[in-house]
Amino acid sequence: MVVTVLVIGPGNGELIPAMLRLPRERGPWLLEQFRVHEAWIDARYRMPDAWAIVRVLAREHPAPPRTLPSRVTERFRVVIMKRSPNARHELLVDALAASVATHEHAFKWLRRDEEPPPTKREPADLDVEQMSFEAGIKPAIRLWLDREHALDYVYAYLRGNAAIAQVEFHLQCFRDSVFVMVARTLAEAEALADAEARTLQQDPARSQALRDSGQLLGFPPCCVEAFVDSMRFERRSYGESLRCNFHRLDVAWVPRLHPHLNTLRTRERIGLISFEPCRLDCVAALAIADRVAPLVEAACPGYGEALLGTFAIDIDNNRVELELADDRRVQSARPTHAGAESFAARIVGHHVDEQGRVPTYAEPCRVFEFVPLD
Ligand SMILES: [Zn+2]
Repeated sequence: MVVTVLVIGPGNGELIPAMLRLPRERGPWLLEQFRVHEAWIDARYRMPDAWAIVRVLAREHPAPPRTLPSRVTERFRVVIMKRSPNARHELLVDALAASVATHEHAFKWLRRDEEPPPTKREPADLDVEQMSFEAGIKPAIRLWLDREHALDYVYAYLRGNAAIAQVEFHLQCFRDSVFVMVARTLAEAEALADAEARTLQQDPARSQALRDSGQLLGFPPCCVEAFVDSMRFERRSYGESLRCNFHRLDVAWVPRLHPHLNTLRTRERIGLISFEPCRLDCVAALAIADRVAPLVEAACPGYGEALLGTFAIDIDNNRVELELADDRRVQSARPTHAGAESFAARIVGHHVDEQGRVPTYAEPCRVFEFVPLD
């Protein structure tokens, strides 16, 4: 089946700013900036002490959630996506709808026939976090989004009646990203944003912030404690959070690893949970992972097999997939992400003991064998 979608055609270059610009007599709002996307336009407006972000899209586009103020014209839909608390958004949406109506007849939409997306999905294609949140398994989630696409994600969550809060760190390294908290109520989203912001403080405030954050995200208390513990270890011994990842997994190693708790593939976007379990057979962590497993299996048959296999992590958080020979020597190693090539090349030929340790390897590393459990 082919679907027809409306995209913004060429030749609207002068029309778009004319549509968006609001003359003074139409009220206090002024156009600050805008960006033309494939099928819509996002614009940011400012009035004294207030701001708002508006999306202008084809009227045929699915209706936004009722909680977002919007107007329709003959050919367009104008939606206030986000605004500061004191924004007089009704003035903006009215003024903009009037301006759009003046210019819309000259606007060129392009009809494009599109093949529907392929039905066969790979494990890494799934947004397991979003699925778990929507299924009610996770009370809240955190998203690191690049600023340019943040609005699209946020819109998708708002459509599902989620509440959003944002954390701004005002650090140069986070200039292009937005840290967004999604929860069922605004109070929870804001509490999570507050806890995340507090993780920048010094201990003991930082440890408490990590506990608060873990609780709001629905992580098991035992796993949260193990995480907090690992942060203390990090400061004493290493000082780099990448190394902390190794430590957490090293501590969580058990003889019978449960595949549902395989977090060795998170750098490939594969895994059922978004926290490190305190042990790789933790009952509380399993209770969550076991609820997620059937969801992802239904969306992507064979997902469970992606959690099986032999994986290794080194001290710098590099992850590789291994093949062991009968004598438990590493026969081959596949880097699972860019940067793991050297680890993969160097571990081949080494012997892995029954505890997943590689005594002959120069730096600390650990091997995890996930086999089907009955
Ligand atoms: Zn636990």
